[in-house]
Amino acid sequence: MLMTGRQYRSSLADGRATYFEGARVDDIAAHPILGTAVDVVARTYDRWYSPEPDARSPLMVVPRSAQELRERIPLLHEAGMMAHVTYTSIMTLITAAGRLEKLDPVYRQRLQRYVDEVQERDLRVTQCITDAKGDRSRPPSQQDDPDAYTRVVERRSDGVVIRGAKLHITGASLGHELMTIPTKSMKEGEQDYSIACAVPVNAPGVKIVNTTYAPRHHDPRDFPVSGRDHYPEGFVIFDDVFVPEERIFLDGEFPYAAVFAHSLGLWERLGGLSAMADEADRLVGLAQLIAEANGLAHVAHIKEKISEMIIHATLIRASLEAAISNCNFGPDGAAFPNELYTNAGKYHGAANYNSMVRHLHDIAGGAVLTTPAIADIENPEVGGLVRKYMKTMHGVDGEYRMRLFHTIRDLTADAFGGWKQVTNIQAGGGLYAQRIVTRKHYDLEHAKRLALAAAGLDEDHA
Ligand SMILES: Cc1cc2nc3c(=O)[nH]c(=O)nc-3n(C[C@H](O)[C@H](O)[C@H](O)COP(=O)(O)OP(=O)(O)OC[C@H]3O[C@@H](n4cnc5c(N)ncnc54)[C@H](O)[C@@H]3O)c2cc1C
Repeated sequence: MLMTGRQYRSSLADGRATYFEGARVDDIAAHPILGTAVDVVARTYDRWYSPEPDARSPLMVVPRSAQELRERIPLLHEAGMMAHVTYTSIMTLITAAGRLEKLDPVYRQRLQRYVDEVQERDLRVTQCITDAKGDRSRPPSQQDDPDAYTRVVERRSDGVVIRGAKLHITGASLGHELMTIPTKSMKEGEQDYSIACAVPVNAPGVKIVNTTYAPRHHDPRDFPVSGRDHYPEGFVIFDDVFVPEERIFLDGEFPYAAVFAHSLGLWERLGGLSAMADEADRLVGLAQLIAEANGLAHVAHIKEKISEMIIHATLIRASLEAAISNCNFGPDGAAFPNELYTNAGKYHGAANYNSMVRHLHDIAGGAVLTTPAIADIENPEVGGLVRKYMKTMHGVDGEYRMRLFHTIRDLTADAFGGWKQVTNIQAGGGLYAQRIVTRKHYDLEHAKRLALAAAGLDEDHA
């Protein structure tokens, strides 16, 4: 049964322990800052609602072909972050289930039942993978604090008790479920850290501390992007949380701990890649519009910068398309994006994002930061003068140009811009992880054979 926006809002009043800037937030939907994010999610529930008793959201259906994979992307972009993280969680669990074939079949059955339940109840699931991690150079079992990685601290006949923290969890307080999985591979002796499970947000012992880039400014016209759409990050603490048996997907089988992280990495990076493809086109569009509004669109060095931006945007979109059209299939027919193109494309987009932003700032000028608020145009004393001096020529209105500058600042040079900058690098496991996976899936032997042939050497020399 799908939820309406109103039902979603009431579903959050479930006793969850969430905090923001030093205070406990008992009614997140009514909170002046976090509540506006709830409104956005509620609207997407209404947008996709169907009253049919056995309806399933089209956003959460498992793709079975390249075309279905391709069609899902614009839908998820329209539906926003909470739909995106839920879809990614579902696909992670489906992908992992296919890779746990050699384990006790009970895990696969529980995974399938859990995915069915999420789809049936139209829940939102967030991805809890990144642990606190302590000293990065030491494995979980050799940390000063054994809780630096989430672990089982007690086993009972009907489940386990977990302790630890998962940091930077996008939208954790806005969801219903925390998909909790090991952040890395585990070794002998790290059985207690090899735990994958699903935890309701309101389970006793779960505490979520929120941060947000949501604008504190009252006028959304000055924050046209982040004022419309923002999601809190959750610092999720498992302070001895009981997880019943039927919600445990791995417990102690350490050789399989990384299966979940690898499965998530693939879907998370596909999401990142598809977001970057739209983002890159948006940055090109802003560069062209502001160049035209400044009267410089025909100037050689401006055109060259925009051409470079176009090439970058095109390569990102090409890798997205390659990732989709070269998709692979799991044992039950689910379609997965191609690992090589997904990772190489995501890496390329993230690593070159700064040069896109540099070109845009270079082309736009200092008004990216100093453009007066839109409300200043409405001030009877200075409004006309602000409009006059922000105008550049006939046909380029001052307010139009100001709105472009506010959009550029919001997207690239303010709280949301900073969030994007770091997120592009870190989300999906960071650049290093993408380099490792790309290398793993690249056909290095083929490259070596080509190099040997070019050198006139036979393969025995390799
Ligand atoms: C806005 C945002 C949203 C996010 N959303 C989510 C989410 O929803 N769910 C989730 O689980 N995670 C999320 N993440 C977390 C993200 O996946 C991590 O930030 C990323 O994996 C890096 O981990 P870290 O932040 O702990 O940095 P670190 O692991 O400390 O990494 C910092 C640097 O150190 C390097 N490094 C770390 N360990 C080693 C080592 N042993 N040897 C060599 N080099 C090392 C890394 O390669 C990197 O260059 C999010 C992050 C951000 C910024």
